[in-house]
Amino acid sequence: MLVVDQKPLASAVPSPVRAALETVQPYKSGMTLAEAGRRAGRSDFSKLASNENLLGPSPKVAEAVMAAMAHPEIYPDPYSETLRNALATSLAVDPARIVVSPGSEGLIDYLFRAVIAPGETILLSTPTFPAYEIFGRCAEATIIDVPRLANFDLDVEAFKVEAAKGPKLLVLCTPNNPTGNALTGVDIGEILAVTPRSTVVFVDEAYREYHEAFNTFALLEAWGGPWVSARTFSKAYGLAGLRVGYGVASSAELVGYLDRLRPPFNVTAASQAAALAALADVEHLERTVALTIAERGRVETALAALGIEHTRSHANFVFLKTPAGPEATSERLLQEGLIIRPTPVAGGWVRITIGRPADNDRLIAALPAALAH
Ligand SMILES: *Cc1c(COP(=O)(O)O)cnc(C)c1O
Repeated sequence: MLVVDQKPLASAVPSPVRAALETVQPYKSGMTLAEAGRRAGRSDFSKLASNENLLGPSPKVAEAVMAAMAHPEIYPDPYSETLRNALATSLAVDPARIVVSPGSEGLIDYLFRAVIAPGETILLSTPTFPAYEIFGRCAEATIIDVPRLANFDLDVEAFKVEAAKGPKLLVLCTPNNPTGNALTGVDIGEILAVTPRSTVVFVDEAYREYHEAFNTFALLEAWGGPWVSARTFSKAYGLAGLRVGYGVASSAELVGYLDRLRPPFNVTAASQAAALAALADVEHLERTVALTIAERGRVETALAALGIEHTRSHANFVFLKTPAGPEATSERLLQEGLIIRPTPVAGGWVRITIGRPADNDRLIAALPAALAH
């Protein structure tokens, strides 16, 4: 047997990377189907760990992708012009104020790198999407966290106190991942009212299609400072595998700066075509969103019948406190063919994506045993 020296000579060589990276934990994604298969020895999984839309994208997407693949030897449009024009029409904004990225996580990376100088501050509210902290630390930001209330609503009053101090960037994630809680337009207006116009406001609206409660752009325009609203084709549009997100910014000038550090061919031709086709099929989007919301109600009813505490989710997932603990519940459900997301949130919380009706039937049937202490 080969014995590997645990202390190779290489340890004498200093790390070539920036010290800031030593403070970063890599993003931990939901379990893949391959890993679940290895762990549970089966293949018939309901993948409810990553907030994908299991109802799938518009059927028009496959055709559009095939057509885009007629010429794979040609670079994609570096400005995603056709897609930006279509988005501009549907959102009624100037296309020069839109930036397209490989998922909205790409946009988070561009924006943070563009605006944060080492030591500057990012204000956020945990538990929330981990990418803000990851890209923030990579940009050597100082993170200021205003923890959420016991029901995981944003602590608006405490957040306002920090916002008023003028952080370099402030993050509002609504509906929030992993908790599902949403802000109201009034909350956002109150926060903006105390935020200096030297702060960049980043509103992550990855789940907006499930909860269109207010006009984000109007609130931000009325405030008048620099801002970006991030949206994605990964969730309600069902295109997570193709990686397309976009941002609407306060000015074309800000988009111009993001264009300087964005890789020019960041979104493939197939992905641009897919997003364009998905955007055009409004009826498909509305149908899948309505079905997901109805199914979320069915899962919540089952949780209530079991006396299980859960948040008021406005997205395509539920967030619940499990008496068995997150690891045991996730493992028991995995053995039943259901992949869910344990979280490190204190008290023992898991996040479960709403799937197709048959996935949710299976979940509801498995929950009593999976949650039991
Ligand atoms: C899923 C998610 C994203 C990123 O999704 P992309 O696939 O990169 O577009 C961004 N923000 C939140 C809150 C999310 O849940």
